Amino acid sequence: MVDRMKTVTVVVSVYNEEQALPEFYKEAKRVLNGLSWEHELLFVNDGSVDGSLQVLEKLAAQDERVRLVSFSRNFGHEAAMIAGLDYSRGDMVICMDADLQHPPECIPKILEAAEAGCDVVNMVRTKNRSAGLLKGITSAAFYKVINALSDVEFEANASDFFAVSRRVVLVLKDSYREKVRFLRGYVQNVGFRRTNLEYEAGVRVAGQSKYSIRKLFSFAVNTILCFSNLPLKLGIYAGAVTGALGFAVMIYTIWTWVRVGAPDGYATIVVLICFMFAVLFLIVGIIGEYIAILFSELKDRPIYIVEKTENINQSRAT
Ligand code: UDP
Ligand code: MG
Repeated sequence: MVDRMKTVTVVVSVYNEEQALPEFYKEAKRVLNGLSWEHELLFVNDGSVDGSLQVLEKLAAQDERVRLVSFSRNFGHEAAMIAGLDYSRGDMVICMDADLQHPPECIPKILEAAEAGCDVVNMVRTKNRSAGLLKGITSAAFYKVINALSDVEFEANASDFFAVSRRVVLVLKDSYREKVRFLRGYVQNVGFRRTNLEYEAGVRVAGQSKYSIRKLFSFAVNTILCFSNLPLKLGIYAGAVTGALGFAVMIYTIWTWVRVGAPDGYATIVVLICFMFAVLFLIVGIIGEYIAILFSELKDRPIYIVEKTENINQSRAT
């Protein structure tokens, strides 16, 4: 008896990609049709406000291997990838962008790794032709900081282009439902057999990048808070340092007082007060950030809301 043909799910998050989609579909299909694997193309429409949904509905109507999950509004790229994992049915699930910056030509290589027994295939960018210098530097700085602060090791240049096997999908689906999250980080830290493959990021085919510097910054802060408790301990360090400083000032004051009488310390007092309050507020702010995360976890609102689906017959695949 022949083995059941394996299936690969390609999860594509889509936010206002009306212009890029036809090209992406063509490219992806060309590669997928040449595989020895069955395939499904699972598009997650993340509340696009252009004609993306209509383009996707058309594709779904003419190709039953195109499956579509459409959100009620924009929930963000991460939420879209999570929905993709939730609805996927493949033995291997590949997450990629719709703008062809993640080249579909890499799919055969990924599946080769999967056939060799890898559960996690991490795609590492060698060159990013459309990222500016600023994005390059901030991304490198981000990985430096996060690796210094947390005890898990992150691959620099890892992207939202990765593939996971069904059993990793199940782990991610069941156990990583955090509201403030960093999916890429989970993928790198679930364990299993992992490999890195290199790819050269292409140029966006059409449309514009949806990530502003502000969005990227808040994303970076959230990730650090998610993966590290170190900032919470800053209060203890700051307390120790300023305590020691206060003690030294006290000794100095007593010494001056004994030798030359009451010291005139107006400037010192003002400087110290400003400094101490700065430290105090900073720490209160950091604690506030963690409380915000706890709060969103407590509220337990959905990561995404699905408005409609196409070619998906059960509510959620298992
Ligand atoms: N995306 C999304 N939701 C968003 C923003 C982006 O699903 O809120 C999708 C977008 O359509 C694309 C992918 O995520 O397929 C990556 O976004 P983009 O290309 O804008 O980011 P960049 O490649 O510039 O980092
Ligand atoms: Mg892109």
